[in-house]
Amino acid sequence: MATFATLAYLVAAVCFILAIKGLASPETARQGNFFGMAGMAIAIVTTLILPGALSGLSYVLIFAGIVIGGAIGTIVAQRIQMTALPQLVAAFHSLVGLAAVFVALAAFYTPEAYGIGRFGEIRAGSLVEMALGTAIGAITFTGSVVAFAKLQGLVSGKPLVFPMQHPLNAALGVLLLVLIIWLCLSNAPAAMWLIVLVSLALGLLLILPIGGADMPVVVSMLNSYSGWAAAGIGFTLENNLLIITGALVGSSGAILSYIMCKGMNRSIFNVILGGFGGEATTAGAAGGGERGAVKSGSAEDAAYIMKNAQSVIIVPGYGMAVAQAQHALREMADVLKHEGVQVRYAIHPVAGRMPGHMNVLLAEANVPYDDVLELEEINRDFGQTDVAFVIGANDVTNPAAKTDPASPIYGMPILDVEKARTVLFIKRSMASGYAGVENELFFRPNTMMLFGDAKKMTEEIVKALES
Ligand code: NDP
Repeated sequence: MATFATLAYLVAAVCFILAIKGLASPETARQGNFFGMAGMAIAIVTTLILPGALSGLSYVLIFAGIVIGGAIGTIVAQRIQMTALPQLVAAFHSLVGLAAVFVALAAFYTPEAYGIGRFGEIRAGSLVEMALGTAIGAITFTGSVVAFAKLQGLVSGKPLVFPMQHPLNAALGVLLLVLIIWLCLSNAPAAMWLIVLVSLALGLLLILPIGGADMPVVVSMLNSYSGWAAAGIGFTLENNLLIITGALVGSSGAILSYIMCKGMNRSIFNVILGGFGGEATTAGAAGGGERGAVKSGSAEDAAYIMKNAQSVIIVPGYGMAVAQAQHALREMADVLKHEGVQVRYAIHPVAGRMPGHMNVLLAEANVPYDDVLELEEINRDFGQTDVAFVIGANDVTNPAAKTDPASPIYGMPILDVEKARTVLFIKRSMASGYAGVENELFFRPNTMMLFGDAKKMTEEIVKALES
């Protein structure tokens, strides 16, 4: 049985690795998801048929849990809006963290069931694993709850900064270390419960000062923490698959945070210690440059300009996701292509609110993968392009990132849309993007603003193109 379980766990681990590989590209993402589901099914079935898996429970109870959890997951997955995915992920991570705390507490009070000694006489090694799993799990729990509340708009997205915040966090970190040593030396339940309390407080205090714009990076970091918490608990349970899966989640979350920070040209310490994204001003924020008159146009104007163009580059952003304009956009691109216009899409690495956000939406609308190009593949082409069609994007086109060292987005690579002969911007107002920085491109002579909802405006352009 043990050999079978090891083999089955190995197959599940390979499935998880293939899942992560598949999810790296929209073309293979569905297949990746399939591998993930298959791996999880193998892991659950194998764990349930292992001798001693029930330890006092009945299969009825376990299946009731699976059915209730599965039903909630299915309903949530069907109802969730694409733009609300970051907060959904945060909510799920909070549960992973809480589960790690519960497993560690269960192992602490009934160590016999886990084969790690008796209550009050647990080996120091197991206590260290347990304490780390508990601490990381509790930090992940409260941190993810705060991230969820900020992203959902339940609490202000502004960084909540208070005096002595960093010394207080450092003191709590040291206290946590002392408590872990006390637990290992004494097996004292008080030490275990204090670890839980201090870690819960630390999770709150670490995430509250981080601004809304940095929340997706924080969510990815918490994702990484939840993986490490699971790996720690895997050692306690002596479950190799949990260790492998936890390490996979931990490292992929860490890599994702790194990619996001690189896309925004910021360091992870800058994200954790800074207060970026707290202000969402509508004007006057760092931007620099001359201010001309704003030229606004209609759907008919946009249709006329694009119909007479030879090449159009579409730059989608967060607003396209909010408006769910991707289908109308593809329709527009189809009509233009039919007229002989070359149409391509330029994707900024942090457009939208999560990595790959735009790719997923465009894939959903069946946009051909060959038409979708990354920043470094297409940025040079804007100079030879007739129209840059910016739909619901703002920060990722803002030249302040190149010209204004005082700007919070300074250093972030941007799409050079201003080099196109004409720049069309669809957005509802003159408001700034997520970083709260005014975009001077709106005032340039080669820019035409198309004020309105991205989907409605694109549908009107399609109508105008067809008439
Ligand atoms: P922005 O947030 O800069 O701008 C989006 C624009 O869309 C807004 O200015 C808004 O203007 C407009 N908009 C909103 N709703 C609609 C609608 N229904 N119809 C038309 N327009 C709409 O988005 P970008 O994609 O350009 O940039 C992403 C930002 O998110 C960057 O600052 C990035 O650093 C940050 N970020 C991204 C992460 C990622 O992984 N992708 C992770 C962390 C942060 P208006 O209100 O006038 O309509």
